[in-house]
Formats: sequence, structure tokens, C-alpha cells
Amino acid sequence: MKVLLASSRGFCFGVEDAIETAQAAVREHGVGNVVALGPVIHNKEVVHKLEAEGLDQSGDLETVDPDKILLLRSHGAPPETYARAEERGLSIVDATCVLVKRAQDSVRKLHEDGYRVVMIGDPNHPEVKGVIGYAPNVTVIDHETDLDEALPYFERIGIVAQTTHSPEYVADVISSILVRPFREVKIVNTLCLEVTRRQEAATALAREVDVMFVLGGLHSANTKELARLCEDECETYHLETLSQFDSSMVTGKSVAGITAGASTPEWIISDFVKHLEAI
Ligand code: SF4
Repeated sequence: MKVLLASSRGFCFGVEDAIETAQAAVREHGVGNVVALGPVIHNKEVVHKLEAEGLDQSGDLETVDPDKILLLRSHGAPPETYARAEERGLSIVDATCVLVKRAQDSVRKLHEDGYRVVMIGDPNHPEVKGVIGYAPNVTVIDHETDLDEALPYFERIGIVAQTTHSPEYVADVISSILVRPFREVKIVNTLCLEVTRRQEAATALAREVDVMFVLGGLHSANTKELARLCEDECETYHLETLSQFDSSMVTGKSVAGITAGASTPEWIISDFVKHLEAI
């Protein structure tokens, strides 16, 4: 089978930095002494590898032993997490991606400048939960939100978006906001260019192939978005590991395309390519 790879795919610099920060912290403080408040990234294989190297990813802020080092994940955390960690005497190693930090700073600045902040994002995603902590009463809007109910009249609103959303989706939501009678609407572009590049490359490839495989965590927001975009172009499968592949997925197909989310390591991509090429 012929296999084509998306020109931009896999690990982004934010995820690479987070993994390196976690590994360096374990090397410096010792096995079992660094505790993350949940999986460092949305990829089971990488999470297991970090666990095997001695990183505890099952931490709870209220119960972490104060002798341990608290690792904050690439998705970031709200200010209360930093404050509570300080109260409990925990030292912090911060692996928040710089682009997530930029979104947090934008939210704080919009609030300070008198805007009512609106965030386009998934209210259950850890990045969104963290970012909205930087201003009071942030309204979170996702595709299921009833705008009439969620957004009453405010004189000035300031909009940011979850870093991993696609520009098209964000533009759609913003258009629905702009038809409402707010006096002033300020938009801060908080989208991640790494993600946008992967989305453009995936869409272009999906137009050329018979079937697309999107590799990455089933809970990874940016991987789910890649799969959604590819589905619009051709038959698409979102797989976490090679074990989920079934040969019926490529029956009658001669060219397969592969892309991968920002938290998918290269080894998973190359194992999958080898497997498909052997068919
Ligand atoms: S996808 Fe973008 S925002 Fe998210 S960790 Fe990677 S570089 Fe940072």
C-alpha cells in the first residue's frame, strides 16, 4: 500500500518542552519525587513511558506530600492552583506551554481593560479550565452553547479561543457573536500556529488519498479536530495505537494518508507507516 505523510504532524514544541521539563525534573529530584496533577500530555504511550521513568501523574493538589515537587502540565493551571500550592508549601516546576501562558495573559489583560471575556472552547478541557481562571465570570462558548442564553448584552466583550481550535470554527462562532448588538468586540488571536499548520497539511493530504489515519489520543482536542477536518475530505480513522487498526479499513484502497496530533510521538507514526506499507 502506498503511504503518504502529512508535511506537518506529530509533536509540537509545547509538548516536547513539557516532556523534557518533566524528565529533567525527575532526573534532578529523583524517581517518585515529582508529581503531576494528571497525565502530562494526552497520549497514553508517552504517559506510560514517563511513569516508567519515575514521574507520578496521579497527583491531587490537596493530598500531594509537601516534600514533593509539583509539575504543572502543558495545558496550564488557574491562579488558584499556584496559590494553593504555595499555601501547602509545594515547589512548582511549570511546564505550561508558552502559547497557553499567552492566552492566560490575554484573558487577564482583557479583564483589566474592562472587557467581559468570552472564550471559545470546550469547557471540560484542562486548558480552558485553566485559562478562564485569569478573569472573573468568563463566558465559555462551544458549538452546543445557546448564544442567546450564554451571552446577554455587554457593552464591551473580548474574545479568545482554545489554542487547538481551527481558524474556520472560531471564525464561525465569532460571526454569530458579531451579529449581536455589542458596542465593542475585541478579538485576540490565541490560536496555536503549530496546530493550524497540522490542520492545513492534514486537509490537503486528505484530498489526495483514499483513506486517512489520524494518530493520537482519543481525548486529545487537537487530534480530534484533525480527524474532524479529514472526515470532511475522505474516509478517516482516528486511532490511538496500531492495535486498533483493522485490515478492513484499507480494503479496496491503494493510497493511505497519515497525520498525527501534537502529542503523538514519531515512533508511533513510523510503526504505523511500516505496518501499512507491508500490506
Ligand atoms: S499544541 Fe500549540 S498550544 Fe498546545 S502545547 Fe503544542 S505548541 Fe503549545
